Amino acid sequence: MSRVRVGMSLGLVVALLGGGGALRADDRPKGPEEDGTKPALTRIAGEGFMNSHAYQYLTELSDDIGSRVTGSAAERKSEEWAVAKMKAMGLENVHLEKYTIWKGWTRGTAEAQLLSPTPHKLHVDAMGWTGSTVAGGAEGDVVPVNLFDIDEEIKNVPRLKGKIALVTQKGQPKKSFMLLFATFGDFLKAAHDAGAIAVIGGQGGSKSTGMNLTHTGILGFDVDYAVPVVSMTAEDQGQLERFINRGITPRVRINVQNSLTSGPVETANVVGEIRGRERPEEVFVVGGHLDSWDLAQGTTDNGSGTAATLGAAEAILRSGQKPRRTIRFVLFTGEEQGLDGSFAYYKQHQSEWANHLGNLILDEGQGPVTDFMLGGRDDLIAVFQPFADSVGRIRPLKVNDKVESGTDTLPFSVYGLPGINMNQETADYKYTHHSAADALEAQKPEVLTQNATLMALTAFWIADRPERFASPWPAERAAKMLRDKGEYEELKAFNIWPYGNLGEGPKEK
Ligand SMILES: [Zn+2]
Repeated sequence: MSRVRVGMSLGLVVALLGGGGALRADDRPKGPEEDGTKPALTRIAGEGFMNSHAYQYLTELSDDIGSRVTGSAAERKSEEWAVAKMKAMGLENVHLEKYTIWKGWTRGTAEAQLLSPTPHKLHVDAMGWTGSTVAGGAEGDVVPVNLFDIDEEIKNVPRLKGKIALVTQKGQPKKSFMLLFATFGDFLKAAHDAGAIAVIGGQGGSKSTGMNLTHTGILGFDVDYAVPVVSMTAEDQGQLERFINRGITPRVRINVQNSLTSGPVETANVVGEIRGRERPEEVFVVGGHLDSWDLAQGTTDNGSGTAATLGAAEAILRSGQKPRRTIRFVLFTGEEQGLDGSFAYYKQHQSEWANHLGNLILDEGQGPVTDFMLGGRDDLIAVFQPFADSVGRIRPLKVNDKVESGTDTLPFSVYGLPGINMNQETADYKYTHHSAADALEAQKPEVLTQNATLMALTAFWIADRPERFASPWPAERAAKMLRDKGEYEELKAFNIWPYGNLGEGPKEK
């Protein structure tokens, strides 16, 4: 096990030493300076920086469409909008790829008041795909529930009948946050069955980030819960916790009304292509996600990725440069419910998976790109580095083989391809993420322009370089990589681990 890894690491060191080392100059990975792609990239950079419409696209999406919850009327409208943009700029084979998610969800009311000891309004918003209180709301004592002791709390749920549970974090966690989060789902079911009124703690007991902000989101992959779960502002939650710590039981009235559909709802990924000039059957996927949450405009999550994708496509088209292989631009939906669009893409394109080279995703908010995460493919670091160096005068960019499991890169990494995450600086994203602050004001136009251009350059270089960038790893190697990267636990906990015992190392004693 470790022997294989040491071998690969050493191989990498040799490759990085370059021509002077054990490899001949011809075996050294070549970047744009040497592989013939630089003249095309220079034109694309010019279009990307000088003629970008990315911010205009983001403005339209944010102001004219606004929030786009998967399966909602607004989300469908955004699909039509994206199709129109792709067609207008001249992408080929523009179409929708429909699929369904298990249920649709619509936010209604979320109101809460502290009744005693000091009456005032509490600021809450419902977590996605969670349920409702009785009509008109209900009133109950607030009772703490320790996330770090969640297994015990599940046993003790009868005490929550007619109460409002406040999730806290006390002491030391007995298992990883991922497993706690997965077990939290079991708690929510048990709490509902026991007759709890609602659960405060969309952040799993940690405080909501930012001043007077709530953050919505889903509580697992493709899961809905009948009990209403709310995110509360840090200020209000902090006060409740302080009362409880002093032995005072707060009494709260809460009214949460949401609606879940009884069955699956339709949605669609939006697809357009620049067909390859030599090997059109070989495909590199570039994108972000079109769907969003609904407390604001969904600008930074992931309007920015959507606008960057459209901006990148346009820069390449306007440059007149044709890549050797096909670049397929995909705006995924269903990302926020469990990467449903990108998993649906894998299922719908399984027969041509061997012809895929990987994907490139921008979905870490509004900040500048800081590094390329190659999604588990350590064999590609040395290959990619010369490209990163070549764009280093636009912005210094690091390269690593980390896996991003929180966006549409994951299905590509799971199925053996580099799911490349354009990681971004997140100083502001921690506030705008799924919150009421996720609006156009949060995105600096010049940063978006730069990110879109870097996306265009990366996509074109990968699709155009003479040597094929990557092919899918066999299942065994992908499974082992995922285990080595610590992804197994999470994928297993959320029932999306596809490999059974594959990739398991020798049993520990
Ligand atoms: Zn996102």
